[in-house]
Amino acid sequence: MFDTILVANRGEIAARIIRTCREMEIRTIAVYSEADVEAPHVAAADEAVEIGPAHVTKSYLNQEAILEAAKSHGADAIHPGYGLMSENPEFVHAVEEAGIVFIGPRPEVMELMGDKARARDFAEKAGVPVVPGSDGPVEDEEQAHAIAESLGYPVLVKASAGGGGIGMNLAKNEKKLAKAIQTSIRRANSAFGDPSFYIEKYIQNPRHIEIQVLADDHGNAIHLFERECSVQRRHQKVIEEAPSPASKTFEGLRQEMGRAALNLVEASEYTNAGTVEFIVSPNGDFYFIEMNTRLQVEHPTTEMITGLDLVEWQIRIAAGESLTLSQQDLAIDGHSIQCRLYAENPDKRFMPAPGAITDWVEPSGEGIRVDSGVSAGLKVTPYYDPLIAKVITHGADRSAAIERMKQALAEFEIGELTTNLSMHLTVMDHEDFRSGDVHTGWLEEEFS
Ligand code: ADP
Repeated sequence: MFDTILVANRGEIAARIIRTCREMEIRTIAVYSEADVEAPHVAAADEAVEIGPAHVTKSYLNQEAILEAAKSHGADAIHPGYGLMSENPEFVHAVEEAGIVFIGPRPEVMELMGDKARARDFAEKAGVPVVPGSDGPVEDEEQAHAIAESLGYPVLVKASAGGGGIGMNLAKNEKKLAKAIQTSIRRANSAFGDPSFYIEKYIQNPRHIEIQVLADDHGNAIHLFERECSVQRRHQKVIEEAPSPASKTFEGLRQEMGRAALNLVEASEYTNAGTVEFIVSPNGDFYFIEMNTRLQVEHPTTEMITGLDLVEWQIRIAAGESLTLSQQDLAIDGHSIQCRLYAENPDKRFMPAPGAITDWVEPSGEGIRVDSGVSAGLKVTPYYDPLIAKVITHGADRSAAIERMKQALAEFEIGELTTNLSMHLTVMDHEDFRSGDVHTGWLEEEFS
């Protein structure tokens, strides 16, 4: 097992990874920017190294500074968390060249899945149903028109390098296609330095359901059931739950999606933790959209219903251990919901709302977990993602998990800062949410 792990991240996820390392008696090194001197993840680690100015490109995306911190402080492994350096194959190569273990999949499979157009092709060949669309990237507008015509409108133009909903544009009809392509290219160029795009049929009112997988270096792979993440704004998740209410409606959906996810894992020789994402049409047909080659923000809901620690398994797998669990050993215990608390204003189109935190008292109790990355006296700055905490609840069934969430949210004391907390409370009481039947456009329809 590793002696020392450097956590190349910040906020709630850095603190959460450090917690598991501590339980495993692994020494931790935090990295931080000038803006994060007082952040909780810095205090939580055994050692902490400043890696540069506030701006992410100068600190949390500064490969050299992170590697230097790892080498000079004796790290034998690096955990990237999510976002930031977590899906950068070049970084993985650099880490390995320095004789340090990267806690995540091999760089080759990361590169394959990072190119969403290629990943789609690969998944299709592995027998995984994909959204009808182009074969690989689209060359030009003329080809795009022909593809969109054969698929039928509406279509989605998507950046091959896309992530976080960036570079994805809807074309409702032929007239809107050229503009959707131009916008995708522009956004993808500035966010990823890669203009390539592909086209998918736009599935009306789908659910987003994903499968958590774990695979080791010895050929063992399991899935840890599904999570439903249909409550979204700007194509980004806000509330997640496990299991999906749709699994009750559609018999066999869980087994079929689980099998499809494992087919992709096997075909791509994927290792470590990963998530295979699907959209599910209102009649229960499911389609692969992408694979995320890292830990997900919503992983705690899976931990709550399986009793497993996903970070612990990521570390064990990276250290060369075998999975000791088989698919038959796994069972779903109850239901879990996660609400993401963002420093943002739901009444102003969910715009980020940085500011000072004057009061911060987290709820606690049976079936309540809070993963946070802030504390009273700190400032939420505009430099980073406005996610400040996640409230996760567990109950014997879905309504018990919802009741616990209402209790936890009501007890949360947050001073001054504008957050989306009251929106979560409204959602928990909304009859559509309570029925378990919402689609990915629902939240924006309700809160616009
Ligand atoms: P990103 O990598 O930017 O997160 P994804 O491909 O994972 O993008 O899609 C994010 C979200 O966009 C999905 O959860 C879903 O809400 C929506 N979406 C993606 N593809 C489609 C599609 N073909 N039809 C309808 N909605 C889609």
